[in-house]
Amino acid sequence: MRRSPLAVAVFSLLALVAPAAHAERFAVRAAHFVDTKLGAVRGPVWVVVSGDTVESVLAAAPADLAVTDLGDATLLPGLIDAHTHLSNRVGIDRMARLKSPAARSAITGVNNVRATLEAGFTTCRDVGGDELVDVSLRDAIKAGEIPGPRMQVAAWSLSMTGGHGDDRNALDYHWCNDLSNGVADGVDEVRKKVRFDVQQGADLIKILATGGVLSANDDPRHTTYTQDEMRAACDEAHRLGRFVAAHCHGKEGMIWVSNAGARSIEHGTYMDAEAAAVLKKNGTWYVPTLYVIEPIIAPGNPLKIPEQSLDKARAVRDHMREAFRTAVKLGVKIAFGTDAGVFPHGTQAKEFKIYTDLGMTPMQAIDTATRSAAELLGWSGKVGVVARGSYADMIAVSGDPTKDVTELEHVKWVMKGGKVYKNDLGR
Ligand SMILES: [Zn+2]
Repeated sequence: MRRSPLAVAVFSLLALVAPAAHAERFAVRAAHFVDTKLGAVRGPVWVVVSGDTVESVLAAAPADLAVTDLGDATLLPGLIDAHTHLSNRVGIDRMARLKSPAARSAITGVNNVRATLEAGFTTCRDVGGDELVDVSLRDAIKAGEIPGPRMQVAAWSLSMTGGHGDDRNALDYHWCNDLSNGVADGVDEVRKKVRFDVQQGADLIKILATGGVLSANDDPRHTTYTQDEMRAACDEAHRLGRFVAAHCHGKEGMIWVSNAGARSIEHGTYMDAEAAAVLKKNGTWYVPTLYVIEPIIAPGNPLKIPEQSLDKARAVRDHMREAFRTAVKLGVKIAFGTDAGVFPHGTQAKEFKIYTDLGMTPMQAIDTATRSAAELLGWSGKVGVVARGSYADMIAVSGDPTKDVTELEHVKWVMKGGKVYKNDLGR
């Protein structure tokens, strides 16, 4: 076969642009590497990056390649927080929140996503925001306009009237506004709200299956959707190619929503052996969010939480920890999540220490925020791992996080998509 003149011209053009593409190839070297696929620390490593992607992970220096040397640091995949609210303003009371416009949340959100990325979280699932601030943050980050993690967003959380997501719980009924919200009652409304969220840019659907802690006048133990409504939400979401994350404290709601097909249950407060067995049988993920209770009940009430919610937080704290122990013991799939947004973004790595205090090894705790969380998000192989074909999302810490997991509270170096966003090594 002879080459046509056109093919020759295209070939020559490719040859001309090739050197520019080569300039985007480089290697990152570190003395130690937490290999999440291997479940062990090894080193030294050279990670060859091409554009925004990892080309290879080598045990010897590659020839003729510029090297970013991280010295004696420990390299690991960028962390994933599967339960955040990146458009939330922290520490304002309920009325101030209701009066605060979406534009204000968006400005706060820009700082939130930067703080999150600089703390080492290169991917986040945002499980509920209003007024499309979450969708806009995701899109602005994707477009390279602002620094932040890769985001999957839920837009409005579906709530029954009077449920955890109904802002009117704290108000008399004659107060009203014309803002959209996630309230949907009955099978038809639930289906319509899922369709609306997807239309408006949701990557996943969040439903509030039980009452909550920070909402007024509801009880975390009560179911807030019927089984028919839960099945409708999951069915509609799945039909449209979306996973469902379900806020759940109570045991009954947890079992119902797991059986309805939710991808994950969030919080899981009253999970006992029976509920854990149901999650395990259905392959439902559990996203614990244990740290959030500590800043909520901290002395001096820094987050300005109403007294009623403080009582609920104190009541759920020990149950949440017991649920975590049960889940670890019985082998429920666990993905790291924190509820950052209730407390300041960028401080959520404190969640790790609680996991190890309650029986996980540091390596298992790291796994929840890397490989496991990536699987929950449906992004296995792309995030939560440093391997051929993954995004070049990596962080470095000074010490060994598999010996002391609190090293992850002091991430020194952050790369996302081959670009460095933080470098405090040597400081
Ligand atoms: Zn939440």
